[in-house]
Amino acid sequence: MSTAEFRNYIDGSFVDAAATFDSIDPSTGTAWARMPAASSDDVDRAVEAAHRALRSGPWAAMTATARGKLLVRLGDLVVANADRLAGLETRDTGKIIRETRAQIAYVGDYYRYYGGLADKHEGSFVPIDKADMEVTIRPEPIGVVAAVVPWNSQLFLSAVKLGPALAAGCTVVLKASEDGPAPLLAFAELVHEAGFPAGSVNILTGFGHDCGHRLTSHPLVARVAFTGGPATARQIVRNTAENLAYTTLELGGKSPVVVFADADLDSAANAVVAGIFAATGQSCVAGSRLLVERSVKDEFLARLKHKAEAIRIGDPQDPATEMGPLATSRQRERIEKIVAASLAAGGRLVTGGERPAGHAGGLYYAPTIIDANDNTGLPCVREELFGPVLSVIAFDAEAEALALANDTPFGLASGVFTTNLAKAHRMARGIHAGVVWINTYRAVSPLVPFGGYGQSGLGREGGLDAIRDYTRSKSVWIRI
Ligand code: NAD
Repeated sequence: MSTAEFRNYIDGSFVDAAATFDSIDPSTGTAWARMPAASSDDVDRAVEAAHRALRSGPWAAMTATARGKLLVRLGDLVVANADRLAGLETRDTGKIIRETRAQIAYVGDYYRYYGGLADKHEGSFVPIDKADMEVTIRPEPIGVVAAVVPWNSQLFLSAVKLGPALAAGCTVVLKASEDGPAPLLAFAELVHEAGFPAGSVNILTGFGHDCGHRLTSHPLVARVAFTGGPATARQIVRNTAENLAYTTLELGGKSPVVVFADADLDSAANAVVAGIFAATGQSCVAGSRLLVERSVKDEFLARLKHKAEAIRIGDPQDPATEMGPLATSRQRERIEKIVAASLAAGGRLVTGGERPAGHAGGLYYAPTIIDANDNTGLPCVREELFGPVLSVIAFDAEAEALALANDTPFGLASGVFTTNLAKAHRMARGIHAGVVWINTYRAVSPLVPFGGYGQSGLGREGGLDAIRDYTRSKSVWIRI
């Protein structure tokens, strides 16, 4: 029986949708809240409000400094409301409370960072070779932004879009995922409280095939910022054939973590375990392919097995829990299928590979390690599982490690563990991925760009340049 109710936030008001759907608590498998399913008409109202706010009214008239102050206030409000937001994200997605709390602290940092940058993003003067002419370049907001996010880390994945978009002076319609939208619909209350003018930020949820489709193909949308899966990304690119919106895509990964025999093996093992099992493996940067030097493979696998089996699985709201359920039953069924196919094709189960006992009803899956036995064609080695499954491949030489690391169409993140500085630099040069973490994994900062190579996406989020991606330059020629 659903108890909580949520609304969409359109043109400065919280509004019901004509249709609703139930949101499932993944730790129990039961419906706990009723969510509004935005229709195409709701999307149209939100985009038109964003377009009006962009062209006239208080947002359009606001100085960059004033916009920056609003963003900083929003960051402060996120942090002040961290417990509520974290509790909702945990309830609606099953991500453990430890992780949702930690992530919300840096969500606040992203809004403050882009708030601080809003009035430091400058235009330029071009010294052209004409004595009677001057040219200035004005960076102007690109227009209405359609931001579309997946269910994992929605507060974070929207901060990396809203922060630079609003700092640049754009207006936004943000679509929360239909799986676990509660934290973003609650975040809309903070946008309202911070004082963003009506229409500047609109937040709604609904299904991809109708509301997402309408939003990303809407003629008044000039910019699409998408995070999600590769199949949806291709559909979104087709949608933007309608409006020719400038589009960035943050997609999936099959990130390699390379462990050389000379590494600090205990610290590497901790990083590998956190790299794959944090967020129950439902993370775009999950280090899902372990490449380990053959001479230490058995010893390293024994450490990993021990650590994986010690992970406390349980109620995601309990601060002592170290791994929660998967977010949807669809996810669990897919993981089970890929694991079964990989074992049938010759993979060796080191640990896990089953639903853990004692958690009936919840969408749990045990931390799983599969030794690929040198078969890099196994489905668990090739496909993004988006779950707690680590595939292990041995290598004998550095060149082989590099070739294996790059043996994927993805290229989002990677890790290298070694005490040899030159080797670390060579690997960092050679790996085809947007991030290389050396002797660490999963570090993030608003100051640092993030994004993928190949099938992992297009464009970068985070860092100074992200604001540029939400502006278009205007060249102004003046005869003097
Ligand atoms: P998804 O692609 O199914 O959905 C993402 C969003 O797109 C949802 O809001 C959905 O409603 C919307 N959508 C679906 N169809 C649409 C359409 N036709 N038009 C417009 N919008 C549509 O992804 P998911 O299963 O929710 O999330 C998992 C994926 O996200 C994984 O592949 C993961 O790697 C990726 N991801 C990437 C990053 C990154 O930063 N690179 C971060 C987190 C997750």
